[in-house]
Amino acid sequence: MSSDTSSVITRTDVQRMRVLAATQVCPSFVRITLTCADSTPFHGQGFDQWLRLFIRREDQAKLSLPEGPCEGWYTRWQKMDEAIRPVVRNYTIRDVRYAANNVEVDIDFVIHRNPVSGGVEGLAAQWALRTWPGDEVGVLNQGLIFDASRATGRDVLLLADETGLPGVESIARSLSGAASVRAILEVPTLQDRRPLIDAVSGGQMDVTWLTRDDLHARPGSAIKAALPQITWPADGYAYATGEISMTRAVQKAADTAGMPDGQARTCAYWRPSRKRG
Ligand SMILES: Cc1cc2nc3c(=O)[nH]c(=O)nc-3n(C[C@H](O)[C@H](O)[C@H](O)COP(=O)(O)OP(=O)(O)OC[C@H]3O[C@@H](n4cnc5c(N)ncnc54)[C@H](O)[C@@H]3O)c2cc1C
Repeated sequence: MSSDTSSVITRTDVQRMRVLAATQVCPSFVRITLTCADSTPFHGQGFDQWLRLFIRREDQAKLSLPEGPCEGWYTRWQKMDEAIRPVVRNYTIRDVRYAANNVEVDIDFVIHRNPVSGGVEGLAAQWALRTWPGDEVGVLNQGLIFDASRATGRDVLLLADETGLPGVESIARSLSGAASVRAILEVPTLQDRRPLIDAVSGGQMDVTWLTRDDLHARPGSAIKAALPQITWPADGYAYATGEISMTRAVQKAADTAGMPDGQARTCAYWRPSRKRG
């Protein structure tokens, strides 16, 4: 088993997009629909295509971007004056729709809360709650992490906490030719279980929902608790995304179960802040 964070990257420039809609889809998710005229970065991608998302801080009157190509974006961003430098965070595309003159992209933001105060924390989660149609963002395409070539003809097992759920949906919809697809999906509350856009084999993904229902429980903890009961796809492909201690635990469990090297992969999407322990 290997931990893989490498991506297939289609090189593109930092691109300006506009918020078309902001919708609270369930208690822990706000869906932001973005639009722009140039659909180039989204063609032929699907799966878990992810983006660097540049957003305006609340004290910034307008959005400034590290304009230019993917190469060197970080240096350009670092060199921006602190007063105008945007917040940058990583997000997955849940869905893409094409029209004659524009493209629409859905991104699902987890509204995560401080386990002690209960307040919404994180600049991106807070932005998702306050943004409005017409607001601008910058996006930089980062390509795919899921390796579809390893899924062909095989039994696929997807594991994700809430941050990985949008990616699982898009993977399931993009995947064709897998022998079977199972998903173990962890969400904060019962109300966060929602209809999925999986169209794999006409919606044949076998889904097991796990719910924490405890503000103090760390995301990923329900999957970690369920690991001893998981049946691994012996010659298949397992892929896990979410909180780092969960993805590490999945990696270890799959190794112990004897999953062949490279056929079980993980990507840590976020880590708890050190201050919190
Ligand atoms: C490739 C990739 C794809 C991703 N796709 C998505 C996606 O589609 N949707 C999505 O919501 N997230 C996604 N993430 C995770 C997202 O980038 C992080 O959760 C990010 O830290 C959120 O930024 P923030 O400004 O809200 O919080 P930050 O300012 O980064 O963090 C503030 C505090 O909140 C904690 N924290 C951060 N995220 C969470 C969380 N989810 N739950 C609980 N506590 C948290 C931090 O540890 C810190 O203490 C993805 C990450 C990667 C690497």
